[in-house]
Amino acid sequence: MTNSFTRREILAAFLGLPVALAACSTGPEPRFPTGEIVGASDGIGHRIRDGLSISPAPDAWRRTGVVIVGGGIAGLSAAWQLLKSGFEDFVLLELEPAAGGTSRSGTSPIVPYPWGAHYLPAPGKENAPLVSLLDEMGIIEGRDEQDQPLVAEQFLCRDPEERVFYRGRWYEGLYLRAGAGADDLAQLEKFNAEVNRWVGWRDARGRRAFAIPIKAGSDDAEVTALDKVTMADWLSGRGLNSPRLRWLIDYGCRDDYGLTLEQTSAWAALFYFASRVPKPGAESRPLITWPEGNGRLVSHLYRQAESKARLGLAAAQIIPTQTNGQSAVDVIAVDANAREAFGFHADQVIFAAPQFLARYLIRDYRDHVPAHLAEFQYGSWMVANLSLRDRPVSRGFPLAWDNVLYESPSLGYVAATHQRGLDHGPAVFTYYYPMCDADPRVAREKLLSLDWRSCVDVTLTDLSRAHQDIRALVERLDVMRWGHAMIRPRPGFIWGGARAAAVKSFRGIHFANTDLSGVALFEEAFYHGTRAGDEILSARGLRSLPG
Ligand SMILES: Cc1cc2nc3c(=O)[nH]c(=O)nc-3n(C[C@H](O)[C@H](O)[C@H](O)COP(=O)(O)OP(=O)(O)OC[C@H]3O[C@@H](n4cnc5c(N)ncnc54)[C@H](O)[C@@H]3O)c2cc1C
Repeated sequence: MTNSFTRREILAAFLGLPVALAACSTGPEPRFPTGEIVGASDGIGHRIRDGLSISPAPDAWRRTGVVIVGGGIAGLSAAWQLLKSGFEDFVLLELEPAAGGTSRSGTSPIVPYPWGAHYLPAPGKENAPLVSLLDEMGIIEGRDEQDQPLVAEQFLCRDPEERVFYRGRWYEGLYLRAGAGADDLAQLEKFNAEVNRWVGWRDARGRRAFAIPIKAGSDDAEVTALDKVTMADWLSGRGLNSPRLRWLIDYGCRDDYGLTLEQTSAWAALFYFASRVPKPGAESRPLITWPEGNGRLVSHLYRQAESKARLGLAAAQIIPTQTNGQSAVDVIAVDANAREAFGFHADQVIFAAPQFLARYLIRDYRDHVPAHLAEFQYGSWMVANLSLRDRPVSRGFPLAWDNVLYESPSLGYVAATHQRGLDHGPAVFTYYYPMCDADPRVAREKLLSLDWRSCVDVTLTDLSRAHQDIRALVERLDVMRWGHAMIRPRPGFIWGGARAAAVKSFRGIHFANTDLSGVALFEEAFYHGTRAGDEILSARGLRSLPG
């Protein structure tokens, strides 16, 4: 894209033609800060996809009980679960030079910052394993009268939490109240009433329509029917056509799923609004965050698994075997340059990488690709971290944690410095751009062909709408291009059967990744990681599975 396209064409493709024309009419090429593209490491992944054939030397094989493939939240949570039960006979392989996957973080002289996930809503007591992780981290400071965990103040997102930029100035909150008419507000009320109905809804077994983890929620036909329509159609069916209401819901879908409301399953969109509200009319659970986002959770989990982890080592082949009636799994791993290969004879594997890789890594799947794998589709995201020597000028409501641009296809930025209470001077902003193109493959190619200068230009041109001085203040701008960032919960995926098929273990391989829930969330990655850990412990007679 960068070799053959002009600056105007690139800006038009990412930000729309009017913005591109305005940016290109202002004279010479703008000033560029320092920086680079930091990842992710696609090279070795593509070689594995293309059938990399490499064999470890006979003395490069070792025995281990379990190999965990992938050191994102799911893989690290699986390791956490195994270690908690005293099971240590495992190795964790992570392709990247750092653990964390899409919850990784980076460092700067100002503050650490996220490269992906940046917050976790406070869990309710029903999610006991997650509460126990947060307890262990010293994040829970007590229980209220209903025995719900109370998060210590310093870990809750600091005020002001959100602001939105619209036509020249910033406004408080995410819903654009300024200029809203009586009908807009009535529609907002009506939507909130619909959400509240779902918050209070229970099936015959007393299960919520939308629970976290999703597995604890209802599979009643009334709920699963929501997965058959798009959120746009669901809203239209209720006469909800207020542009600012639809913008708010579209923003939620783009923020959580990298999809527009025309692309998102109504089930997934309502899950976003209803699952974190404890009872009808109550506030959504508060957000837990750190300057480095969920990188703090990664550090905690990784510290415990560190001695078991092999970073920069990718699983290239997973081969289920059978010897004398005894099943086992061989794993061949390679370093980032595919120069060195290592073999592991394991009893079992936890496959904590995304499902789209299963067809390349698992030998049986290479030959006979299971039908359910085609249903797993992933969106791409660009994330940029900007180091600023000072705060840009803001008209209207002051800098918040989350700063959203109403008229942009991006999500705006999160201020990493906000949670530290640093309200003046140098700052780090994390800019998020989900690629919502209809065809995820086209979007991925578009993103991966963008060079660093074009990424910088898109980011700064977009942010210049709200901060005209931003180019002069940015000293460094690094970029992460996530090719397979997030599973896309489009209509039919959540309850269509593919997830149920993918979660079943296969010849000693136990699957764990947030994509098995159909939505990309810490809680779901953690659930699948600990569940897969429990499956291993149960198969070894070290724990009984919950019924
Ligand atoms: C931009 C962005 C923002 C997000 N924001 C939030 C947020 O604010 N809150 C939230 O809860 N969630 C957020 N998420 C969702 C996030 O994906 C989940 O929270 C969670 O991190 C998913 O973890 P995972 O382990 O399931 O998957 P992944 O993060 O995909 O981890 C998979 C791991 O497997 C590794 N791997 C792949 N192939 C191999 C191989 N062959 N061998 C060895 N290792 C391999 C990968 O390198 C990776 O580390 C965000 C995601 C993105 C992309």
